[in-house]
Amino acid sequence: MRILIVEDDPMIGSSLMRGLTDAGYTADWVRDGLAAEAALRDRLGEFQLALLDWGLPHRSGIEVLRALRAGGNNIPVLILTARDSLADRVEGLDRGADDFLVKPFEFAELKARMRALLRRHAGRIEPPLRTARLALDPASRSVSRDGREIQLTAREYALLHALMQRPGTLLSRAQLEERIYGWSNPVESNAVEFLLHSLRRKIGSEQIENLRGLGWRVPGDK
Ligand code: CA
Repeated sequence: MRILIVEDDPMIGSSLMRGLTDAGYTADWVRDGLAAEAALRDRLGEFQLALLDWGLPHRSGIEVLRALRAGGNNIPVLILTARDSLADRVEGLDRGADDFLVKPFEFAELKARMRALLRRHAGRIEPPLRTARLALDPASRSVSRDGREIQLTAREYALLHALMQRPGTLLSRAQLEERIYGWSNPVESNAVEFLLHSLRRKIGSEQIENLRGLGWRVPGDK
């Protein structure tokens, strides 16, 4: 589950990054409106939700939102705002915001609202993914093998999700790192290998093929 954070305040941005990462989300952080527009335009479909600050350099949150909706992108957007006037809320909703949170906020409330938004949009996010023996349902974040549910950590789930989105396609370590950890986080060199090892122990090592030096894949249709 990948979240785009758009926030120019370094303290709030870094605490959001830390909190969301701890909660098992992959988070990417951009600091101004232009970067937000670029991320949402060029990386269409990669993010499942955006946290959008209202007051931003270069483009305001409302302008980013307007451009996003005008382009037909229906990603859930939760506005983070220091202002709490009725007029602001009405304008935001008219422009296509899904929810508001007034700063300062409790992290628990942010997470609850994010979950609610993601549930509401779940049907639009992605249908269940299948291989011969595995099933992964993005709406419920559940994984099963031969019909039996398997408990995965958030990172293991993200890794398997990335692989099952493209069965039969090799994904390199760099591609997997980028998918699991985001592009703004430093990653220890063998973190992906450790994750693959624990994931394979749970789902069966034959469910993920490794071509040495090239990458990993789940088997595609034969
Ligand atoms: Ca701001």
